[in-house]
Amino acid sequence: MTRPWTRRWLSRIFPALLLLTTPAFAEQCPDCRQLVHTKDIGTCQLCTNPTQSGQFPLCMTCSDRLRECERCRKALPATTPKLDGSADQTFKSGRWTYRVETFNQGTRSEGTRGTLSFAGQPLPVPAAVNDHVRTPWGLLYWVGEPGTAFGGRGWMLRAKPSRPLGQPVAPPLTRP
Ligand SMILES: [Zn+2]
Ligand SMILES: [Zn+2]
Repeated sequence: MTRPWTRRWLSRIFPALLLLTTPAFAEQCPDCRQLVHTKDIGTCQLCTNPTQSGQFPLCMTCSDRLRECERCRKALPATTPKLDGSADQTFKSGRWTYRVETFNQGTRSEGTRGTLSFAGQPLPVPAAVNDHVRTPWGLLYWVGEPGTAFGGRGWMLRAKPSRPLGQPVAPPLTRP
């Protein structure tokens, strides 16, 4: 028999428990997943958060933020989002959300807008068109906003062909 206060307490800590059970290898590359690592806690070289092992230079958040392996810092494998032509699609992976929306649908000025956020924060607007960010879906390119009345806006899977390739950018470092 569970007393009501116990149930209330459980319902409060249960979401936290779910977060703790996230698979430990989630941010490692396929090569490093095969290796054993020490179970001590290290310090992230970028943000000083704890890492999953003293052998790891990156914490799970920085690894996901930069899409680099926690252990060897190689680029993590990417999967291309399957755009099915529907007006609005949202893709989620780790802390990333990529949303593709169609605007002015059915008109001559129909276009697509891509919005990208990391840990609930929209990515800062980059300095230049075709600046690009490594995401779980590969490189996404900033093609400008509002840009043209039709075509792509925001973050797109292809760079704007008429412009030079920009600089790599990443979600900003956040400290707890
Ligand atoms: Zn970090
Ligand atoms: Zn690795």
